[in-house]
Amino acid sequence: MTLRIEKHKLVGDQVSHRDTPNRGGAMTPSYLVLHYTAGRSLESSVESLCTRKPQGNASAHLVLGRDGRIVQLAPFNIVTWHAGVSQWAGLVGLNSHSIGIEMDNAGLLKRVGSQYQAWFGKAYPEDEVLMAAHRNGGPVSPWHAYSEVQIERAIELADLLVEHYGLKDVLGHEDIAPGRKTDPGPAFPLAALKSRVLGREDDAPPRYIVTASSLNIRKGPDASFEPVAAALRKGTEVFLLEARDRWSLVEVVSNAEVEGWVSNSFIAAVAAPRSAPASPLPEAAAVEAASGRSARSAAREPAEKKARRAKKQRPAKDA
Ligand SMILES: [Zn+2]
Repeated sequence: MTLRIEKHKLVGDQVSHRDTPNRGGAMTPSYLVLHYTAGRSLESSVESLCTRKPQGNASAHLVLGRDGRIVQLAPFNIVTWHAGVSQWAGLVGLNSHSIGIEMDNAGLLKRVGSQYQAWFGKAYPEDEVLMAAHRNGGPVSPWHAYSEVQIERAIELADLLVEHYGLKDVLGHEDIAPGRKTDPGPAFPLAALKSRVLGREDDAPPRYIVTASSLNIRKGPDASFEPVAAALRKGTEVFLLEARDRWSLVEVVSNAEVEGWVSNSFIAAVAAPRSAPASPLPEAAAVEAASGRSARSAAREPAEKKARRAKKQRPAKDA
């Protein structure tokens, strides 16, 4: 399901195109701006963003569905109308400087009896609702959750667009029009997306390698705890998540599902592979050979997933 860009158009699985009449002239994008549609469905939002309206026209470059489908409404080098009155880093009117992605999401909901209702009347079950306060202010409120595949797809898109156009940053509409806009809102992991896409290297946990021929990985920091998986073989690379004096909590680099405690006596630090991408470690090459994925992406994804989780937990600790 790899996406690519050809002549400012997105190409890949589950990608379709429809031209919106709501567009301006040529532009060179510097930013990516994320939005929620506050709409009912992918189809209804595409329809709306391709319609001329007396009360004002809106559009975006991409609309991302909850099932991962993507509809492109204009080439990435043409202005669309997603940002409105906005400013960022000395720029005023971000439409002329950014690519806009609208994500199918109902936005801020309202509790009505036992249900959560969107402004257009549709009710959402509790498991599609996230209670949170917006970082720009306001009370704890119910927000429509994004789907897992939608978030993954948004990360994939941001990765591609940032790389292809050398974008400076990924922003929320809430960043460039605070007070007026609340999208993509607290239900979207914007900070995690940014740290992953913009490649903040210090977010990746340190890597260690198993030095014993076979090393037990356990449920807790003591030999009395049961193993969580088959013993790790010599040369297995792990991310260090939490270090104690004799035991460490680690996650296997090539399999993020395997997480547990190992004895410090049998692991050794590995030099950060991302600081020397031209000469990958033999272990990294082995990961690549075994999985068919690049060593970089194999190393990267679980680490950042972890960083994301660590971030999520942080506010509770600090509060
Ligand atoms: Zn918006």
